[in-house]
Amino acid sequence: MSISTKHSTHSDIIIVGAGPAGLAFARFFKGSELKITIIEKAPLTAIENPAYDGREIALTNTSKEILQNLGVWQRFATDEIYPLVDAKVYSGKLDYALHFQVPSLMKSMRSLDRLGNLISNHNIRKAVYDEVAAMDNVTLITDVGVTDVKTDDNSATVSLADGQVLTASLVIAADSRLSNVRRMLGIGADMHDFGRTVIVFRVTHPLSNSATAQECFLYGRTLALLPLNDTMTNCVITLDNTQADELLSLSPQALAHEAQRMFGDQFGAFTIAGSVHHYPLMGVHAHRFYAKRAALIGDAAVGMHPVTAHGYNLGLLSANTLAPLIIDAHRTGRDIGSERLLSTYNRRHQAHTRPLYHGTNAMVSLFTNDRKPVRILRDAALRLSNNLPPVKHWIAKQLVG
Ligand SMILES: Cc1cc2nc3c(=O)[nH]c(=O)nc-3n(C[C@H](O)[C@H](O)[C@H](O)COP(=O)(O)OP(=O)(O)OC[C@H]3O[C@@H](n4cnc5c(N)ncnc54)[C@H](O)[C@@H]3O)c2cc1C
Repeated sequence: MSISTKHSTHSDIIIVGAGPAGLAFARFFKGSELKITIIEKAPLTAIENPAYDGREIALTNTSKEILQNLGVWQRFATDEIYPLVDAKVYSGKLDYALHFQVPSLMKSMRSLDRLGNLISNHNIRKAVYDEVAAMDNVTLITDVGVTDVKTDDNSATVSLADGQVLTASLVIAADSRLSNVRRMLGIGADMHDFGRTVIVFRVTHPLSNSATAQECFLYGRTLALLPLNDTMTNCVITLDNTQADELLSLSPQALAHEAQRMFGDQFGAFTIAGSVHHYPLMGVHAHRFYAKRAALIGDAAVGMHPVTAHGYNLGLLSANTLAPLIIDAHRTGRDIGSERLLSTYNRRHQAHTRPLYHGTNAMVSLFTNDRKPVRILRDAALRLSNNLPPVKHWIAKQLVG
């Protein structure tokens, strides 16, 4: 990869955003003759050596296969791949759980011993970057944002904040859920501000977490516990924006105590292990994933509420859906930015994203509404799902991928 400020002005593909989705997409073109330019507004150091950001990404088994095919998975240190064997969901009180395991058919047919794996976001970003850094058909331009994108029948023109103007046959927006490129392309989006904040941090504890994720929909707040190693867990507290400041003003150890108070003493005393991070909760689904000579991938296409852990899994799926179409078109001498190709990508990816996006938002509404009739309804839904194998199987399948 060349890292440059001086570069040719025309590429086959321009990718805006060197986040985990933009970089994974670029990696699909290893060994291809297509010339790729990635534009990233953050400094090179933040992309080369991303800092820990509190996010532990639950990757489905399908995402693992995609990352293995890209050579990215092999770059993770084995002690930083955390198995997610089981998951439990609680509603209101912690006395009854909906319990998920890998469905037995999938266990035998796909030799699966876990629902998925947790990997820290900064480790994913670093591993994908290192893979792309080894490619000789990629140019990375950092420290400069994209300020304008125009496309016509023949090419895409991308203007940068430093005055440079670049062209390509296809431009890819991978510039996060509040994508400016999406806006510049005239693509609208459904946006849902949940009015809530998610606070994330790691704790250690003396007793085992049994590699089981715990999703506790308590009244007013949600606590998710994601198992890292046996005695280290990632805490994810979701609460109303009006209460977030109060929790964030606590000392890190007091915050760990608060998580322990919410969960109880099943793992023993919580001790904070590292920094505390927080994110606003907003879901975004673009109306369509393409425009003339342009496509959206990753969070720029769909930014999910993290509760069902689908965000980056869908980001990888978007790259895994679009990139092979482009490679095939190039191999057979067809236009890599044709309407036909991009609409095929749009149709295939929307079929995956729409049910998950709307299903997740409906679930969040159900489980964060504490009015008595809704509480009764969701307790019933939990018990019904636990006792209806087809429903439980369907949900477990979404988790496994
Ligand atoms: C607390 C939390 C937990 C999560 N847990 C999970 C999980 O368990 N499983 C899962 O699958 N997903 C999870 N996610 C979602 C996952 O983190 C995101 O889906 C993923 O990081 C999105 O990657 P991306 O590359 O699309 O976007 P981003 O990571 O947002 O990267 C976008 C990049 O574009 C750059 N950029 C933006 N604008 C411009 C511009 N104008 N010019 C140039 N560059 C630009 C930015 O600097 C950035 O580097 C979680 C998210 C959160 C917040």
